Amino acid sequence: MPLPSGVSLPVLPRPTDITVDSLDDRPKEECGVVAIVGIEKAAELAFLALYALQHRGQEAAGIVAVDDGATRVHKGVGLVSDVFSAATLSGLKGPTAVGHVRYSTAGGAGIENVQPLTARYARGEMALAHNGNLTNQLDLRNRLVEEGAIFRTTSDSEILVHLIAKSRHESVDAQIDDALGHLEGAFSLVVSVGDTVYAVRDPRGFRPLVLGQMGAGHIVASETCALDILGAEYVRDIEPGEVLKIHGGTVERLRSLQPAERPSPCIFELVYFARPDSRIWGMSVDRARRAFGRAMAQEHPVEADCVISVPDSANSSALGYAEESGIPFELGLLRNHYVGRTFIQPTQKDRDFGARMKYNPVREVLDGQRVVVVDDSLVRGTTSKSLVRMLRAAGAKEVHLRIGSPPVRNPCFYGIDMPTRSELIGASMDIPEIAEVLGVDSLGYLSLEGMQGAVAEGGPYCNACFSGDYPAELVDVKRGLASPEGPAKC
Ligand code: AMP
Repeated sequence: MPLPSGVSLPVLPRPTDITVDSLDDRPKEECGVVAIVGIEKAAELAFLALYALQHRGQEAAGIVAVDDGATRVHKGVGLVSDVFSAATLSGLKGPTAVGHVRYSTAGGAGIENVQPLTARYARGEMALAHNGNLTNQLDLRNRLVEEGAIFRTTSDSEILVHLIAKSRHESVDAQIDDALGHLEGAFSLVVSVGDTVYAVRDPRGFRPLVLGQMGAGHIVASETCALDILGAEYVRDIEPGEVLKIHGGTVERLRSLQPAERPSPCIFELVYFARPDSRIWGMSVDRARRAFGRAMAQEHPVEADCVISVPDSANSSALGYAEESGIPFELGLLRNHYVGRTFIQPTQKDRDFGARMKYNPVREVLDGQRVVVVDDSLVRGTTSKSLVRMLRAAGAKEVHLRIGSPPVRNPCFYGIDMPTRSELIGASMDIPEIAEVLGVDSLGYLSLEGMQGAVAEGGPYCNACFSGDYPAELVDVKRGLASPEGPAKC
């Protein structure tokens, strides 16, 4: 049937818009999100913002642009700079864009899981980008499937697309509010419906989300470093439980979600995940890590000749340790920044090869020295084990390992990609055993109290990976749908 005059159909994503690479289908939760609202060439700005958020996800990237009701999408597997070209960006026209990067420690994820997710429903074109992990995803998904929903992805984010689309409320505002009410767990989200963008943080505010401004337009991003690259002005953090509606130069605060008893922003964002030049939880990430390093020097002093860091995530805490202890900071380990996922693995069976690809010790700094090595966290312990051997091979006389956080003993159900409990070295061994396995002369972890005390102004925090105290109910685990060993996989 011909359309009435003046009505045009939105441009839907075509299969040719989607780039495919080698994939597996393990869903990942670590991500970065961005939305640009009311600024010409929004997709180009979203690209730059994603480039700055690359550390939050190196496996896949995508941008959806909205131009006068027409939605165009480009997404693919790889780094932001690999996925987009000048040509693909120039095809993503319009003043509204939503973007996403996702993370993987191994393998990839099905192209259908690459975000932003898009759907056409009764109120128009929807695009959704999500950072976080829902703790009732299997429960919700089972119910939706029972009701006839057909899922195209294994991502928990698609649950929200279905919940919005099937809401019986009239207005999009009410539909979004209705859908959000079903979610449990961690979600920092940007959702576009037409050229209106909704920005949401879950009531506990596990993951960061900030609001920025550029002229009359607005930007929402996971971290402030994405605003910096655009030269945009930081306006404020989006509050836990807040739902913002951004359209035509205005930002409206919709009804907040049911407030949590207390917010619980993730302390691991400060320890490892966020960029040190960002500000999250009301503080500089660099300053927070330095405070961890200083606290560690007080808790675990040692006689040594130099302090070195495992670059880059431990640089700030190593500087803090050096400042507090008075032991000079040296560049004893260099990191190769060009190790990407696309690297062709040569037939190297050497056990330390993975670490050597990434790090190289500076013999002139280490030879004959008593060295304090600072790392931000120990997860499996495999990197540290290789690094210690490399430092000794480069002449280090003593190796004292200092970790800027407590032992990671529990999996994260809220969006940090940790291995399952049995793979965590801190879950199966005590500290002397870990020191022996790693082959260090001494090992000191920052205590939970020391870590929280160092950044008390931003807390209280979610510290479940260290303490096992999970602030948002693990619904799927409780109902026997998911294993307590690690987060649910749809
Ligand atoms: P490992 O103990 O060998 O598993 O690796 C620990 C190192 O990985 C630490 O130095 C961190 O910098 C880094 N790391 C910590 N958490 C994560 C994570 N969720 N994903 C990727 N790397 C991480």
